[in-house]
Amino acid sequence: MPQTVIKLQGTSKSTFKDEVMKILPDGGNLNLCLTCGLCASGCPASGLEDMDPRKFLRMAALGLDEEVLTSNWAWMCTMCQRCVYACPMKIDIPQLVFNVRNRWPKEAQPKGIRGSCEMAFKTETCSAMGAGVEDFKFVVEDVLEEYREAQPAFREMKAPIDKGGAEFFLNQNSREPVTEPDEMVPLWKILHLAQADWTYGAKGWAAENYCLFCADNEMWEKNVRIKAAAVDDLGCKVWLNTE
Ligand code: SF4
Ligand code: SF4
Repeated sequence: MPQTVIKLQGTSKSTFKDEVMKILPDGGNLNLCLTCGLCASGCPASGLEDMDPRKFLRMAALGLDEEVLTSNWAWMCTMCQRCVYACPMKIDIPQLVFNVRNRWPKEAQPKGIRGSCEMAFKTETCSAMGAGVEDFKFVVEDVLEEYREAQPAFREMKAPIDKGGAEFFLNQNSREPVTEPDEMVPLWKILHLAQADWTYGAKGWAAENYCLFCADNEMWEKNVRIKAAAVDDLGCKVWLNTE
């Protein structure tokens, strides 16, 4: 497999390296990395852009700020945390990735992720796909009716929206009502069989929050607060976010 050679040119005045130190366990330094490669072995983004988490971390440790901060690989990490579990030194590489993303100008971030973050604020539903209140109600009611008719064992099944005082407030990823509505039903069935007292909210029903993936702390929090307010408005006790 072809390998990219990392060229060290002169002395690097790294500022990013200082920030990277914050992701290390207490009292640690980047030399803690044993270069064992366990992080890379289970990483779904290993090999993409000729990069992997070990290499990314080593580049940061070497002070290659420009290469680290402009690598598209930072947008390929899924934040799954497998590397953290595998690492004998517990080095938090996804936090390093998050810090790198946070440094990217908004206009340079991948359009799909950035656009999905911003779309959530265009409706009161927080849907990254722009699905509004009426769209959601229509799909939920339509799918519910279909299943109640087709499956007698679930004739009494409910999928409430805005049921005040329900114990559980459930969020739903927009992808399901918009593109795969049948995928909502298995969870409805579980909640029905468990006799759970639950509801969706017409406002803030969308579970996804792409601002997290943009490392945009301000908009991430804003998105969460809109949904939390919807839970409080209905007086629900438990917020179930399926994301
Ligand atoms: S698993 Fe940890 S110690 Fe091993 S190469 Fe990766 S970051 Fe370094
Ligand atoms: S969190 Fe990112 S770097 Fe770590 S294993 Fe997952 S995809 Fe790879």
